[in-house]
Amino acid sequence: MTTRRDFLRILPAAATIPFWGAPRARATQRIILNDASRLSPTPVAKHVTIAKAETNDLIARIRAELKEAAAEHRPAAASVARHSMGGQSLPRDGTAISLDGGPLEMDTAAKTYRTSAANRWWDVIRILDPRGFSPAVMQSNSDFGVGSTFCVNAHGWPVPHGPFGSTVRAIRMVLADGTLVQCSRTENAELFSLAMGGYGLFGIIVDLDVEMTPNVLLEPRFERMIPEKFADAFTHAIDTDTSLAMAYGRMSVSRKTFFDDALMVTYRPVTNPPATLPPVASAGKLTGFQNDIYRAQTGWEVAKGLRWFMESRIGPAITGSHATRNSLMAEPVSNLAQNDLRRTDILHEYFVAPERFGEFVAACRDIIPKSRAEFLNVTLRYVAEDHTPVLTIAPVRRIAAVMSFSQETSPEGEIDMMQLTEALIDRVTAIGGAFYLPYRLHARRDQVEKAYPAAAAFAAAKRRYDPNLLFRNAMWDTYFA
Ligand SMILES: Cc1cc2nc3c(=O)[nH]c(=O)nc-3n(C[C@H](O)[C@H](O)[C@H](O)COP(=O)(O)OP(=O)(O)OC[C@H]3O[C@@H](n4cnc5c(N)ncnc54)[C@H](O)[C@@H]3O)c2cc1C
Repeated sequence: MTTRRDFLRILPAAATIPFWGAPRARATQRIILNDASRLSPTPVAKHVTIAKAETNDLIARIRAELKEAAAEHRPAAASVARHSMGGQSLPRDGTAISLDGGPLEMDTAAKTYRTSAANRWWDVIRILDPRGFSPAVMQSNSDFGVGSTFCVNAHGWPVPHGPFGSTVRAIRMVLADGTLVQCSRTENAELFSLAMGGYGLFGIIVDLDVEMTPNVLLEPRFERMIPEKFADAFTHAIDTDTSLAMAYGRMSVSRKTFFDDALMVTYRPVTNPPATLPPVASAGKLTGFQNDIYRAQTGWEVAKGLRWFMESRIGPAITGSHATRNSLMAEPVSNLAQNDLRRTDILHEYFVAPERFGEFVAACRDIIPKSRAEFLNVTLRYVAEDHTPVLTIAPVRRIAAVMSFSQETSPEGEIDMMQLTEALIDRVTAIGGAFYLPYRLHARRDQVEKAYPAAAAFAAAKRRYDPNLLFRNAMWDTYFA
C-alpha cells in the first residue's frame, strides 16, 4: 500500500515526468468579452477594433473579416459601445468587430447628415452643434453608436417622433457575401425594414443618412399629477402644442409610495433666444449630491423618497434653467455610474398604448415592489406609431417606460430578475404591449412572439438573406435560432 510518506517522496520525481500522451495545454487563453450588464461574459475567437476608418477602408476591412469568419465557419457581429445587456453584440466563438469613430458630412440644405455607423452620439453632436443643428432623435445618453442605435431602433425624449429609424433616410450595409447594398424606404426596402431594429443580423452597417433639426434653447415646465392622469396629459400636450420639442415623465419609486405620484416635464423653445446659443455641455442632471442620492436609493427607501421630493418639488422650483437641445442629449452614461461590483444596473423597457397606461401602472404596482431588485428610476417617453421596422416597437403610438433596477450579481439576484421580467412581460403583452429587446434575454420565446408578432417572419427572412447564419449573437441563439 502506498503511504502518505511514499507519496511525498515520489512527488518531485513525478513532476518531472513528461506528459507525452496528454493533450497539450492551449497556447493562449480565449478572449472573453462582456457587455454593460457585466453578466454576459462570452468567449470570442477574434476581437478586432476598427478605429476612425475612412468609409472605403471600413468597407474593405469589414469584408476581409467577414470572409475570414465565413471560411472558418464562425459567426460575426459588430458593436460600438456594447451597452446592450444580453450579448446582443457578442458572437460566441466568433469574430467580434468593434467600430470606433469615422467620418461625418452635413448637408445643411437637406437638413441631413451622412455619418459612419461607428460614430457615437457625442461625435455627432460635437460636429452638428457649432453649425446650429441637433440630431432629430437619439437616446437620452450620448455614449451609444449611431449604427447600433439603428440596429436596436432606439428612441428618446424628442417629440412627437417615432423611434430613431423613422429619422433615417438610408443606410449602406455589407451583407454576408460581402456585397455592399444601399437600403431605404424605396431601395431594398425589405432589407431596410429588417435591419432597422434587426440587431445586426442582416449585415454590418457602414453609414447612415439621418435627419437633423435646428438646435434650440429650451426651457422646462413641470407638472405633477396622479399616474392615472399621465397618459392623457402627456399625449394631449404632444398633440396640441406644436412648440413642444422634448418631453418625458417620471413616477415615484419608493416601495411605500410606489407609482402614486407622477411628474411631466415638457420643453419648449425660449421666447427670446440669444443670437448665439451656448456651446453644447452635458446638462449634468445627475451630478454630485444628486448622484449620491440616486445611488443611496439601493436598499434605502428613505433615499427614494428624498430623491422624489428633490425631483418633483425642489427641482422644478429651483431649476427653471435653460438648456439647448444638444446639451440635454449630450449627457454621458457615466453620470449614472455605479461602482459596487456586487451589484449591476439592469434596464427594462415596456411599450404600451396610452389608453392602457393605467393597467400598466397597476401591473407594476402588483409586481415590482415585491421583487428583490432595487427599483431606482422610471422615465416615461412618447413613441409615435411606426410600421417600417419588421420588429416594430410601435405598431400604434405608445408610451415607453424605461426602468432602471439595481440587481445583485448573484444567482439569487439573477433568478429574481428573470422572474420579475417574465411576470412584467406577461402583464404587458396581455394589454397589447411589448418589451424592448436590447436588455437581458429573460423573456420566454412565446413572449417574444406575442410582443413581436412578426418574429417568425423576421427569423425566416434572416435565413433567406444569410443562409449560413454568419451574423449571429446571443439574441439570435436565445430567441430566434
Ligand atoms: C444607461 C443606458 C441608457 C439607455 N437609454 C436608452 C434610451 O434612452 N433609449 C433607447 O431606446 N435605448 C436606450 N438604451 C439602450 C441602448 O440604446 C442600446 O443598448 C444600444 O444598443 C446601445 O448602443 P451601443 O453602441 O452600446 O450598442 P451595442 O451593444 O454595441 O450594439 C447593439 C446591437 O447593434 C448591433 N450593431 C452595432 N453596430 C452595428 C453595425 N454597424 N452594423 C450592424 N450591427 C451593429 C450589435 O451587434 C448589437 O446587436 C440605454 C442603454 C443603457 C445602458
